[in-house]
Amino acid sequence: MHAGNVFSALCAWLIAKLQGGRIVLRIEDLDAQRSKQEHIDALMRDFETLGLTWDEGPFYQQVRHEAYVEAFEQLKSGGGVYPCFCTRADLHAASAPHASDKLVYPGTCRSLSERDRESLLAEKPAAYRLSVPDELCVIEDQFQGISTFNLANDCGDFVIRRFDGSFAYQLAVVVDDAAQGVNSVVRGVDLLDSSPQQRYLQKLLGFDEVAYAHVPLIVAPDGRRLAKRNQDAALDALLSHYKAPEAVLGHIAYLTGIIDAEEPVMPQDLLKALTLETLLGRLHGKTSIVFE
Ligand SMILES: [Zn+2]
Repeated sequence: MHAGNVFSALCAWLIAKLQGGRIVLRIEDLDAQRSKQEHIDALMRDFETLGLTWDEGPFYQQVRHEAYVEAFEQLKSGGGVYPCFCTRADLHAASAPHASDKLVYPGTCRSLSERDRESLLAEKPAAYRLSVPDELCVIEDQFQGISTFNLANDCGDFVIRRFDGSFAYQLAVVVDDAAQGVNSVVRGVDLLDSSPQQRYLQKLLGFDEVAYAHVPLIVAPDGRRLAKRNQDAALDALLSHYKAPEAVLGHIAYLTGIIDAEEPVMPQDLLKALTLETLLGRLHGKTSIVFE
């Protein structure tokens, strides 16, 4: 963990608790190779040290395959799902030069004939994409205010199942949110762009909409996102510098403007000192905060 993850987790904890809600701990381990149990254990120890306790879970995505299959089949029967055979190289070749770094899928495989589709499926693995509508999607975010998207222009038909048969993050989190009773999602503003895809999946799968709160990112002094090179923002470094979890949290809460004066605090103290309106107001419209 680094200052940014701690801040996101603190905001999630406060937003839930200030509304009398519960915290669900979900381990998003769809990528089995990168999800080592020792890292997961270390993460849970960090949460405990910081007083960021959870009420339910941990729930692991690796054991939820059946639920994702069921949702995938439901989407397929709705008719908007098709196999895509494009490689990453194909997609890059098809995109305009100097277009934004984010690729918009041009819909290449949507118009394949049934016959071509069948013969391609017989010879190579496919990813599966979901057709998206060319219409306005409005996300009202608790921190960022109103953002408008158009899935057709912003991302195009998106992947819900990968070439290797695993499920995409977007599908998995939407299915899990519904199954685990999550109605408030708090995460970094770098994931704001995922919200319209998730909202669309919620709609197609008949799930309730969740509320979104996208917190500002804590960035390095050079404006870039925190990375390995910013060792002083790592939780271990912060704990050894500030000596106590209360002091680390106090520094992060002060740095981000949650509290007016730097003093040691635990999440429980902030819960008593803040209201939801105050917390939302203090972070409203901020997209990045420089780590100092
Ligand atoms: Zn394709």
